[in-house]
Amino acid sequence: QAKKARRGSFGFFQAELDRQARERLKLEQELHQALKDGQLQLHYQPQLELESLRVRGVEALLRWQHERLGILSPARFIPLAEECGLIIRIGHWVLNEACRQMADWRRRGIEIPNISINLSAQDFHQRDLSLILGSALQQHALCSGDMTLELTESLLIDGHPVTLENLDTLQTCGIRLAMDDFGTGYSSLGYLRRLPVRELKLDRLFVCDLEQDDEARALTQAVIHIGDSLGLDVIAEGVETPRQMQILQQQGYRFAQGYLFAPALPPEELESWLSSHKLEA
Ligand code: C2E
Ligand code: MG
Ligand code: MG
Ligand code: MG
Repeated sequence: QAKKARRGSFGFFQAELDRQARERLKLEQELHQALKDGQLQLHYQPQLELESLRVRGVEALLRWQHERLGILSPARFIPLAEECGLIIRIGHWVLNEACRQMADWRRRGIEIPNISINLSAQDFHQRDLSLILGSALQQHALCSGDMTLELTESLLIDGHPVTLENLDTLQTCGIRLAMDDFGTGYSSLGYLRRLPVRELKLDRLFVCDLEQDDEARALTQAVIHIGDSLGLDVIAEGVETPRQMQILQQQGYRFAQGYLFAPALPPEELESWLSSHKLEA
């Protein structure tokens, strides 16, 4: 007992850091294998047009079916993948899998107008990103208008020159670009004039405070105003209650996604959701 106390908190701290480092390293090695073994999956969350409740698209969200730890959310492993460079290969996998699924839905007459994919800042550093995208689309007989790429404001911070070229090329090719988590980044609004972004995704943090907080309402009002003024679609993320939906609609929001409608679902569950949703609407 006394011996332990004398080692003090540093010893404990060190042990804890070692443990975390080992856990990370292990997860990193497992992630390499997971990619090969098909343990990664995409789930799909519907995006709705509020007035008609029609599905305007789905967002593909990555999941890792881990043998030991169960289903892992991207927050657990995307940062890791970004650090070890595996994110590029994961990005390619996501892109191809999303296209494959979309083509499958098309073939079976399941109507989904658009698919949104999340990419990391590093994905936009690849010089041949638009070629990679183009060939994935072509391979599955999709067109560029079927796809939206979601980027975050953090991608502007590293100021990588290839990123800006890529965004221009992608937009010229007809691929929609959406600014994800809008309102929580560090950038100035000036980039909205320079970047070929067609859509803003209002961060869920603003939506969850809407009912209680006047300031949150003022901010969501400001965002739809910016979007409208610049001719951008604005979609509210993380809508969980009818009241939030009502406030947003009153403010002029036309699109939303969130648990009020559906969480991200495996493909088969999304299909059942779609058929019952069609009956209700
Ligand atoms: P995001 O793109 O902003 O995705 C929205 C997140 O909010 C998703 O979490 C979604 O499941 C969750 N969400 C949706 N509706 C609601 C709601 O009503 N309430 C609440 N509380 N949450 C809601 P998820 O799937 O855990 O993804 C987290 C983040 O991981 C994503 O944020 C995205 O930045 C990243 N991510 C997901 N898939 C990929 C991917 O394939 N590639 C990359 N690079 N990043 C990804
Ligand atoms: Mg997203
Ligand atoms: Mg978001
Ligand atoms: Mg996010």
